[in-house]
Amino acid sequence: MWVDDMQTAKVDLQKDTPLKSIYTRQSIAARRLYSQDVAEIPEYIKKIFFKTLPDVVVQPTTVDALIQIIKDARNKNKIVIPRGSASYGFGGIIPAMGGIIVDLSHLNKIIEFDEFNEVIIVESGIKWYQLDIYLNERGYTVRTHPSSWFSTVGGWLATGGYGFYNYKFGHFSEDVVFIDVIDADGKIERISHDDKRFRNYVGTEGQMGIVVRLGIKVRKLPKREYISMAYFDSIPELLDALENIVNSNVASKITNIMIYDAHKMHIMNIIRGKKILTEKNALIITTESDNDFKNVNQILSENNGQLSSEYEALYVWHERLFTFKPKRIKTGYLASEHIFPISKLKNYFVALEKVKRRYNREFSVQAYLVSSKEALVIVSYLTNPRRRIASIIDFLLVVYLTKLGIKYGGKLYGIGIWNNGLKFHKYSKEEFKKLWEYKQKIDPDYIFNRGKFFKLKTRLLGLPGLIFKPRIFTISSVFIGPLMSLLKLFGGSDKTDVIEHKKISIKDIERIAYMCSNCGSCVSVCPGYLYTKNELSTARGKLFLIRNFGSLKNKLTHEDIVSVFSCLYCKNCEAVCQSELPLVDIWPILEERLEKIYGRPKDEIEEFVRTMEYSETYSGFLEQSPNTFKVEKFNLVEKV
Ligand SMILES: Cc1cc2nc3c(=O)[nH]c(=O)nc-3n(C[C@H](O)[C@H](O)[C@H](O)COP(=O)(O)OP(=O)(O)OC[C@H]3O[C@@H](n4cnc5c(N)ncnc54)[C@H](O)[C@@H]3O)c2cc1C
Ligand code: SF4
Ligand code: SF4
Repeated sequence: MWVDDMQTAKVDLQKDTPLKSIYTRQSIAARRLYSQDVAEIPEYIKKIFFKTLPDVVVQPTTVDALIQIIKDARNKNKIVIPRGSASYGFGGIIPAMGGIIVDLSHLNKIIEFDEFNEVIIVESGIKWYQLDIYLNERGYTVRTHPSSWFSTVGGWLATGGYGFYNYKFGHFSEDVVFIDVIDADGKIERISHDDKRFRNYVGTEGQMGIVVRLGIKVRKLPKREYISMAYFDSIPELLDALENIVNSNVASKITNIMIYDAHKMHIMNIIRGKKILTEKNALIITTESDNDFKNVNQILSENNGQLSSEYEALYVWHERLFTFKPKRIKTGYLASEHIFPISKLKNYFVALEKVKRRYNREFSVQAYLVSSKEALVIVSYLTNPRRRIASIIDFLLVVYLTKLGIKYGGKLYGIGIWNNGLKFHKYSKEEFKKLWEYKQKIDPDYIFNRGKFFKLKTRLLGLPGLIFKPRIFTISSVFIGPLMSLLKLFGGSDKTDVIEHKKISIKDIERIAYMCSNCGSCVSVCPGYLYTKNELSTARGKLFLIRNFGSLKNKLTHEDIVSVFSCLYCKNCEAVCQSELPLVDIWPILEERLEKIYGRPKDEIEEFVRTMEYSETYSGFLEQSPNTFKVEKFNLVEKV
C-alpha cells in the first residue's frame, strides 16, 4: 500500500508509523531533479526514448525502512532505481520506464571502526569526503577514492571503482571486505569479498540489489604527500618515461600516477585566467617520503622530463578534484572513458591527434594509472547544450570517440543507458550471460533498474531502442564523421563563450545555470538541504530550476517554493562548487522571479532561520563541513 499512497499523497507520510523513516518527493520539479545525472544529454532526446520521470522519489533513513520499500515495490511490480549522489554520467539513475527513485544518501552512518584491523563499516550512502574527515580525525584515511569526493561509497562500487591511488592499492573492490545487500524479496544478506557472488555487485550499476553497508579497508594517514610533476615535449617521450618509472626500483613506493596532456593544461590556464602552467604534456606522480620524491624526480629528469615548480605541481594536484571545471568556459562538457593497457596508449594518442586535425576539434586527455599495466583514460571536450544541432552532433562525437578507443584496445568503462549498444566491449558474451543468469535468479521480476544495462527498453514499442542494438549502433556511428565535417562548416561548437560574469544580470543567470556540472558537491554542505532534505534547496536544485524555468514555473508546489527559499546565503555551496560559480549572487534573482508568481513564504522562512539558529545539529554540521577540507587544500596552494 505504501508505494501507491506515496504517489498520490493520500496519507501524511511522516505521520504514518511505519513510514516515519522515509521522506518522499512527489512534485514534478523534484521528480525531474532527482532523475538527472551529470551527462549532458539534451532533455528532448531523453524523452523521445524513455519514460524518465519517476513516479515518486523516496528517501529512507534506515535500512528497515528501505526493506519495506523494496517489499512493497515487489508486491506492486514497481521498478526500483537506487540513487546515490547522481554523479555518474551514463544514465544509471535515470529511469528508463518510470519507477521509484530510492535516494540512498540518507543512509550515511558510520557503524563501526575497527582500528586494529584497519576496517571501517559504513552505510552505503556515506560520501567519500564524510568518510575521510571521520578517518583523518583519527589518524587514518581511505585507500582509494574517486575524484568525485562527493559521490557515495556504494555508488562507486556499483559503477567504476577506478580512481586515485588504484596504482598502489588496486581497484576499490579489493578494499571491500564485505557488502550487505538487499535483494528483490527485501531479504538482507552479507556477502564477503571471497564469496563468488561478490563480483556480481561490482560495476553492475544497481542491477542486482541495493548495497546498504560495506566493510572497507582503510590505512594510516601518511605524514606527508609529495607531488612530482614533469613536462614533456611529446606524448611518446612521456610514455617512455612512464615505462621506465613503472619498471624502476621506486615503482612500489609510488602511490598515484596521472597524465595530463598539453590541451588539458591549456584549459586549466584559461579557467585560471592567466598562464600559470606550462602548456605541455605532464606526468604527475605522488610519493610519501623525501627520498622517494627525489628518486622519482631523478628518473623524470633522466628521461627528458622538465621538472615543474612546486607551485605548479601542487596546483595541478589540487585541481584533480575539479574535473568538470571546464564547464565554466562553454557551459557544456562531454567525455569518453576507457581502461587501456599502457602498451596500447601510444597508438591511441596518435589516432586521437588525427581526429583532432581532421575535424578541427580540440580534446583534453587525462589518464590515471590503475595498475602498472593499465590506465583509465578520459578524453573530454567542450560543447554548448543550448545550441541544439551542434549539441546533438557533439553528443554523437562521444560515441565516435568511444568506438575509436575500443578500436585501439580500450575497454568500455560504464554502460548505463547511453553505452548500451557497446556493452560487449566491457563484458564478453559469456561473462554477460552469467550476470544475466544471476539477475534472473535473484531479481526474476526485474524490479531493480529495469530497462537498462541488460535489456534496454524504450518508448513506442521499443522501436527507438533499435538504434542501441550493437550492430545498428555501430553502423550509425559511421555517419558521425560527415556530420562533424558539417559542423565544422557551420563554425563548429568549439567557439568559446565569454566567462566573465562578475556583475550578474538576469540575462546571465541561465548561462551560469548551464555551467553547473550537476556534480552534487554542493548538496551535503547546504544547511537548507539539511533542513528540508529536498535538493531543490541546494545550488544544484536551484540551478536546475533556472534551466527549466519555462516548463516548471507554473508547476511548483508550496513545498518546492519553501525549499528554494530555505537559504541562509551562507556561501557554503560556493566554497565547494566544481565550477566556481557565483551562486549567492544568483539566489535573489531566482527568489524575486518566484515571488512574483507565488509570493514569499515568510512564515516558513522565519521558522527555518529560527531552527537553524538554535539547532545543535546545525552547529555540529558546520564543524564537520567539507569547507574545512576545501579551505585546507586551497591554503596549501595559495601559500606556496
Ligand atoms: C567531478 C566528478 C568526478 C568523477 N570522478 C570519478 C572517478 O575518479 N572515478 C570514477 O569511477 N567515477 C568518477 N565520476 C563518476 C561518478 O562520480 C562515480 O561513478 C560515482 O562513484 C558514482 O557514485 P554516486 O553515488 O554518484 O552514484 P549514482 O550516480 O547515484 O549511481 C550510479 C549507479 O549506481 C547505482 N547505485 C548507486 N548506489 C547504489 C547502491 N548503494 N547499491 C546498488 N546500486 C547503487 C545506481 O542505480 C546507478 O546505476 C566522477 C563524477 C564527477 C561529477
Ligand atoms: S547559500 Fe548556503 S543555504 Fe543557500 S544554497 Fe548555498 S549552501 Fe545552501
Ligand atoms: S552548483 Fe557547483 S557544486 Fe553544485 S552541482 Fe553545480 S557545479 Fe556542482
